[in-house]
Amino acid sequence: MDQHKELTDKLIEYSNKIGIDIIGFADPNLFDRFLEENQPFAFLPKTKTVIIIGIHLYDITLDAWSKNEENGKNFQFADSILVNFCHSINKFLDKQGYESKIISYNPGLYLKDCAALAGVGPIGKNNLLITKKYGSQVRLRALATSAPLICGKPIYESEYCKECNICIHSCPAKAFPEGKYNKELCLEYNYANWKALSDYTVIWCNKCIGSCPVGKNQEKK
Ligand code: SF4
Ligand code: SF4
Repeated sequence: MDQHKELTDKLIEYSNKIGIDIIGFADPNLFDRFLEENQPFAFLPKTKTVIIIGIHLYDITLDAWSKNEENGKNFQFADSILVNFCHSINKFLDKQGYESKIISYNPGLYLKDCAALAGVGPIGKNNLLITKKYGSQVRLRALATSAPLICGKPIYESEYCKECNICIHSCPAKAFPEGKYNKELCLEYNYANWKALSDYTVIWCNKCIGSCPVGKNQEKK
């Protein structure tokens, strides 16, 4: 057990050093409510731990999407940063003698559920992960690893939302009818209203991310 704690601490320290803002660890056996293709064992059969990492979207341009129809290139800036971090973790674990697999985006795991299962934070009424330090202003990625790391305590309920409905009222698409996220309404609004930063790059509405008061006005350590 101490060995596992030592490795977990070392990985947390390493992730802080390279600039990862959020890291958590989930038990892969908690994913059985999802389809097999969305479970960690589909990516790495010997998974012992799911690692979830996140970066703080301190500036909304980090969440920009870029698409060049001429050369077929397609980038999501925050996601590109996260994939690089995943490669660094992959190398770190390899040096410690463990296998790891970067989970593809699609098909993949449900990243916010993964973070909640790792105890990083709850899923809020905005249908997004809420973290204490950064609210919902985060993007996530995951790895499956054979390393037996110390997992967090799953969180199933939001301690923040209760009577709050700020995100619901902020949504210009009214995409939360009866309090439940409606993907079609959100997409329809965003395709018609995204903000163009250049010929190739746009940012989406993201009001459900930015309106959540959790993590705002806190001293960032
Ligand atoms: S704005 Fe309020 S209701 Fe919405 S996710 Fe944040 S805390 Fe929850
Ligand atoms: S991205 Fe905008 S339109 Fe979509 S749910 Fe969030 S606030 Fe509503």
